[in-house]
Amino acid sequence: MSETLLVNETFLSIQGESTYAGWPCTFIRLAGCQSSCTWCDTRHASTEEGTSMTLSEITEHLVQYRTPLVEITGGEPLQQENVYALMRQLCDRDYTVLLETGGFLPVDRVDHRVHKIIDLKTPSSGESERNCLENIELAAASPDSLKKTFEFKCVVACRKDYEWARNLLNTWDLTAHCTVLMGSVFGEQDPAELARWILEDHLHVKLQLQLHKYIWPPDKRRV
Ligand code: SF4
Repeated sequence: MSETLLVNETFLSIQGESTYAGWPCTFIRLAGCQSSCTWCDTRHASTEEGTSMTLSEITEHLVQYRTPLVEITGGEPLQQENVYALMRQLCDRDYTVLLETGGFLPVDRVDHRVHKIIDLKTPSSGESERNCLENIELAAASPDSLKKTFEFKCVVACRKDYEWARNLLNTWDLTAHCTVLMGSVFGEQDPAELARWILEDHLHVKLQLQLHKYIWPPDKRRV
């Protein structure tokens, strides 16, 4: 039987986050997520609402978008077993592949060529107890050539979140190993205030705004 994935949507847009922000990118949003972050902005993908597609249907479908950059996101993409094979196949086809994961599941089975963007959920998400800290250990133990394929992301809704993130980064000395992104919850945390905290503390993190929410209306889908 063919390997399939439940796909919520695919679309072409400008990458809004990560060190790849600003590049045209094809997005494959997989359906389903067992978490329930308070400020989730992709609830439409958290359910099992989607279309079942074989891996070859997905790869053929992507060709129309004509980008060398592809992001697999969700929902939580790692909840579907066949996502590992899809990532491998896309890498074999010379796509630059990004994985955006909520950070509750280990990324140890993800193809080493995939660029992994891993959330570290802050307390206001309501899900910080579920962070899979083994992913930090995995990044730290990786050879230097692979460390650059890990990016950790903290989304901050308030000062308490910021301090939590700062403590976590310091405890694991994470900024010494990997790129760390710090962003603000759109409409809740003033990015200028977050920028000030980062500068005051000399944190070696990359401030990221969700670019797509500034280019288009913040609640617009498929961007
Ligand atoms: S992990 Fe991502 S998709 Fe799942 S609830 Fe949290 S923000 Fe939404």
